[in-house]
Amino acid sequence: MFQADASSHSPVLESLRQAKPVLWTGPVTPSAAGGPGAHFLMDQVLSAQERFARFAPLLAELFPELAETRGVIESPLLPAAAMQAAIGLPHQDGRLWIKADHALPVAGSIKARGGIHEVLEFAESLALREGLLHPGDDYRKLAGPEARAVFGRHQVAVGSTGNLGLSIGVIASALGFRSAVHMSADAKEWKKARLRARGVEVVEHAGDYEKAVAAGRAQVEADAFGYFVDDERSASLFLGYAAAALHLRVQLHEAGVRVDAEHPLFVYLPCGVGGAPGGIAFGLKQLYGPHVHCFFAEPVQSPCFLVRMMAGRGELPGAPASASVYDVGLTNVTEADGLAVPTASELAYAAVGAHLGGVYTVEDDTLYADLARLKDSEGLRIEPSAAAGFSGPRHLCGTNAGRAWLRAQGLDAHLPRATHLAWTTGGLFVPDEEYDRFLSRGRSLAAGN
Ligand SMILES: *Cc1c(COP(=O)(O)O)cnc(C)c1O
Repeated sequence: MFQADASSHSPVLESLRQAKPVLWTGPVTPSAAGGPGAHFLMDQVLSAQERFARFAPLLAELFPELAETRGVIESPLLPAAAMQAAIGLPHQDGRLWIKADHALPVAGSIKARGGIHEVLEFAESLALREGLLHPGDDYRKLAGPEARAVFGRHQVAVGSTGNLGLSIGVIASALGFRSAVHMSADAKEWKKARLRARGVEVVEHAGDYEKAVAAGRAQVEADAFGYFVDDERSASLFLGYAAAALHLRVQLHEAGVRVDAEHPLFVYLPCGVGGAPGGIAFGLKQLYGPHVHCFFAEPVQSPCFLVRMMAGRGELPGAPASASVYDVGLTNVTEADGLAVPTASELAYAAVGAHLGGVYTVEDDTLYADLARLKDSEGLRIEPSAAAGFSGPRHLCGTNAGRAWLRAQGLDAHLPRATHLAWTTGGLFVPDEEYDRFLSRGRSLAAGN
């Protein structure tokens, strides 16, 4: 562990090391004010959206739950006045909305976007290469015996704390691939059971998420017909997430929510390795430029993206750019299992690091309390990781650091017309007994403060 220089005492660094909730905001640089552009292009985001559309008829056939939407995997945008009252966000500071990815069909989490996109891209390129498919074809052909025989020779594998494994495993096995999910030993039992029930091989590894990823990658590299989904480096995952921005723009428009200089949009995104929030932030920046302000939300013990941002700006004296949460003396132990990641994705950092409003951290108790508030105010059922977004308005509007940032950005005058969007990222498939435990713990915490 590196030691911070006592003379360069920074309050953010102190809170970070002591695992106290903190808001970090990026220094305002002119280059960060425009849209990003270095690593991805909007055309690639549009291509991802088109790929989902090409596969929609096939998905509707493979997943009965998608029949109604004709194969479109999307979530509602919900007004959240009751939750706004429950978290104490005053009306003069804007309106709270929820992007309900906790209810995304098929995968039950935000991973439906990136994970399914990557498996579809692999299946598509394989099918084109093998002559199973020609441009312009009806993709329902891929449900036929010829395609399934080819897919069945290939293995799709991933290392995952749970939700990514659920999304990859379910879509891969539905398409007829052999599939394996490499999990850390602490992964939830119900997630393993759900995968096994779908014919997915679950391989358990001792140690944390990164060890599971490394072991999974090594096994797939030894398989000539193996394809490994790399959560830390995958452009395809990133673009699948980014495509969410295009649909959100339509939803905001239909809901009559304006986004411009007088109507700022604040988006609060739970962050693990950074791919999901990074892709979405990238897409939103492309669409809304300086009028959208994205904040990543992390557990106090697993703030890998915050560590990466601070290391990148020389705010962690002596730490390497690749610093992990262990390097600042944190444990990476959190009950927000979707967010328990020690080291940020370099791909996500390079793509959006310069364009975030900031990063904040949340205690597990607060996640549980907000999980209960959301159930009791709006009737929505989420997992603990997915509650991290609700601390965003608190940090931004309810702390001196947040208020100072809003003033420095010239945003305080526009707050009454602002939109605060909390992205709820998972929960649909949490079993009832487990959810009931979350809820009763959350209710007693919410009542106690
Ligand atoms: C994976 C996940 C996230 C964050 O995604 P990353 O790409 O790891 O940053 C957030 N919430 C839930 C519920 C997740 O499963």
